[in-house]
Amino acid sequence: MTEVAENLEPAREVIVRYNNVKKAFGINIVLNDLNLDVYKGEKVALIGPSGSGKTTIIRMLMTLEQPSSGTIEIDGEHLWHKEVNGQLKDADEKHLRKVRGKIGMVFQQYNLFPHMSIMRNCTEAPIHVLGLSKDEAKERALQMLQKVGLSDKVDMYPSQLSGGQQQRVAIARSLVMQPKVMLFDEVTAALDPELVGEVLEVIKDIASEGETTMMLITHEMDFARDVADRVLFLDNGLIAEHGTPYDVIENPQSDRLKSFLGRFN
Ligand code: ADP
Repeated sequence: MTEVAENLEPAREVIVRYNNVKKAFGINIVLNDLNLDVYKGEKVALIGPSGSGKTTIIRMLMTLEQPSSGTIEIDGEHLWHKEVNGQLKDADEKHLRKVRGKIGMVFQQYNLFPHMSIMRNCTEAPIHVLGLSKDEAKERALQMLQKVGLSDKVDMYPSQLSGGQQQRVAIARSLVMQPKVMLFDEVTAALDPELVGEVLEVIKDIASEGETTMMLITHEMDFARDVADRVLFLDNGLIAEHGTPYDVIENPQSDRLKSFLGRFN
């Protein structure tokens, strides 16, 4: 019976796969044998104490740090390797550039181009990287700016917007590229407290549409609970606990996680 039931379940498409990934900086082993599949449309929140390796997990996916060993795949393609005649060779810069196009990232600092209008900030990459026409890029950008509630700001410049609005533009700019996965690294950490809510709301709205695969590093536990399908608690280079937000945030098992969560109460 169980077998039949399992066979009836639709296959879930893996978008990101970490396979036996280790990362060390000198003698400091930051990640020890990470195995993680992130499925299409899934929202995975990474929580854990400072220094537990959350950013390193994301930076390896952004192609900013190379794993010491193991492999990472995105959308069925190796990130740090290239398959040549069935064998894995180290990826070259051309390959890295190509796979990078599948990844959208939003950081603490919004990094908009200060000398470009909001619209141009959102259309530069689709025109120059994806090869869209100006009109196509503008249409897509407008759609995404609508999603983040800023379609009336297209002609303004970043300095004319609040930090929260700039961060929302950065989210729209990433979405325009239709990435396979969106990475959010503590996107509200640099914002004044009163601007945090609007940015988290925008991410929640996008998450609730369901299509976008997301990995999010956050110290906002309420947000992680609302937005994530799965929460991973990183500790000492390992995924120490994982499960639904209910499992991890409401019912922590280990003393380490209980004490970590205690800091947010
Ligand atoms: P988190 O995001 O959970 O705070 P990080 O992934 O930033 O953790 O860092 C994990 C560990 O890796 C820390 O001990 C940090 O000092 C170390 N680390 C991160 N990046 C580097 C680097 N470029 N060089 C040396 N050590 C690093």
